[in-house]
Amino acid sequence: MISMKAPFIDISGAMKTLYGRVLDTLMPPHSLITGQVLSRAGLEADVELWQNLKFIDDPCCQACGFPFEFDHGDKALCIKCTAYRPEFNQARSAITYDDTSRKLVLDFKYGGRTDGLGFFAAQMVRAGQEMLETADILIPVPLHRARLRQRRFNQAALLARAISKITDIPYDTEILMRKKNTPNQGTLSYKARRRNVSGAFKIRDQNKTCLKNKRVVIIDDVYTTGSTLSACAKPLNKAGAAQTDALTFMRVVRPLEIPLELIAHSIRKE
Ligand SMILES: [Zn+2]
Repeated sequence: MISMKAPFIDISGAMKTLYGRVLDTLMPPHSLITGQVLSRAGLEADVELWQNLKFIDDPCCQACGFPFEFDHGDKALCIKCTAYRPEFNQARSAITYDDTSRKLVLDFKYGGRTDGLGFFAAQMVRAGQEMLETADILIPVPLHRARLRQRRFNQAALLARAISKITDIPYDTEILMRKKNTPNQGTLSYKARRRNVSGAFKIRDQNKTCLKNKRVVIIDDVYTTGSTLSACAKPLNKAGAAQTDALTFMRVVRPLEIPLELIAHSIRKE
């Protein structure tokens, strides 16, 4: 008996290609950095993008993913994590947040530009390859209801959905909720950020037991000080997660800014 499956797969593939070409003609891809029209190859042809972004790779701090200039060994920690271990096990990020890359995240978060999502997710999968290999579930950092109404979408949830599409790891936007509508963290110090988000997240009552022994990866757009990710990891760990990691698209890298309170904490520990 002749299988009817193969021709259907071919037709659907051809239709997808045709659809893609029509879409590219009607809405040609634009550079995420310069905004100029690109060739049909889309972001793959965005030379400015590939040349100007700083991709983060090993070696880095085993805990927070802070990039090191030299390899200090597999278990090396940065000075911040030596003084104060974050609540999450490991964090990894794909790209350094700087004057060039900032545009990508601002256009996405506040301008609703989502055509870079596939690229963002692919880079996050590259950076978080190890933690994603064993992950059971992706949980995006939730927005408070009021903030979600205002912005109309949660950028972390869009990233989690795009990563889920690539990896087949399920994502859930309901388990974790933001109970405090914390002010924007933008200009706050490290200490103020930690205070600001402390106790801001909780597991919804009906989901109290579903994380038991699960390996969770928290998803967000930017790692600034790690305070938000730590505040998210705390209730997830308390709910019995076997491991809680964090993965972000970008990371702020400030080599010289070591918060004084952490140095004091480190000295107290010795
Ligand atoms: Zn670190």
